[in-house]
Amino acid sequence: DNPIQRKPAWIRVKAPTHPVYNETRDLMRGNRLHTVCEEAACPNIGECWSQRHATMMIMGDTCTRACSFCNVRTGQPGPLDAGEPQRVADAVARLGLRHVVITSVDRDDLEDGGAAHFAAVIRAVRAAAPDTTIEVLTPDFLRKPGAVEVVVEARPDVFNHNLETVPRLYPSIRPGARYFQSLRLLDTVKRLDPTIFTKSGLMVGLGEGKAEILQVMDDLRVADVDFLTLGQYLQPTVKHAAVAEFVTPDAFAEYASLARAKGFLLVSATPLTRSSYHADADFAALRAA
Ligand code: SF4
Ligand code: SF4
Repeated sequence: DNPIQRKPAWIRVKAPTHPVYNETRDLMRGNRLHTVCEEAACPNIGECWSQRHATMMIMGDTCTRACSFCNVRTGQPGPLDAGEPQRVADAVARLGLRHVVITSVDRDDLEDGGAAHFAAVIRAVRAAAPDTTIEVLTPDFLRKPGAVEVVVEARPDVFNHNLETVPRLYPSIRPGARYFQSLRLLDTVKRLDPTIFTKSGLMVGLGEGKAEILQVMDDLRVADVDFLTLGQYLQPTVKHAAVAEFVTPDAFAEYASLARAKGFLLVSATPLTRSSYHADADFAALRAA
């Protein structure tokens, strides 16, 4: 087991007390939807849910992978729920979202990795809430030929896939994934449809070096990735990877300015940045610009 270290003063999380928080929670429960906010024990849930910003997690709550940073349970998932696309769409419409982030567990057990289900969710949300911009945060579709094409054809506004960490740490942190497969996925999306914004994110504090982070940024820019998120890794339980370092807010600010200089259109790099943190406001600001 890895004991959980005390968090530094700059990682402060507000308790969820806002009434809208409860509304958001009740709507998710009522529509039988999973959220990564809860499953991943995200520290921003109080803030996000108070603004009706929740990231829905489709295709169940059980993942076929076992990444050592992730709190989602691993196992054999159940069959896909054909009613889920409509319930997601209904929740998006009722929340009145201007931007929604939809993610999933990894479904290595399905022939297409769940790509057709993702596409069905995008289409259902588009029909129910035509003004809402849609961001998908997908699995890597490793060994699922044709899967990415199916999701791209459904035309999400933003296609997000996280590299999570530097290639050297993949064997210990993301053992089921391949760095270059993830990078190629992002590159493929852009080549299939250059009008879709692509996005990726990394956790820092897992033992990576600054030069390695900068190399990943360069790799992402070569793949024409538009948006970047960078946040502090926090250890969910003693069974997960230990935090190697708490990166200071100043170091995050430096990463942010280096990333902007490399040409990313949107950059979020703070200790509490998560892949979907402020995604609605950031994307709205970009479209208005
Ligand atoms: Fe949910 Fe993302 Fe907000 Fe975390 S940052 S609470 S995962 S929407
Ligand atoms: Fe968690 Fe995604 Fe890894 Fe599954 S693939 S364990 S949901 S990070």
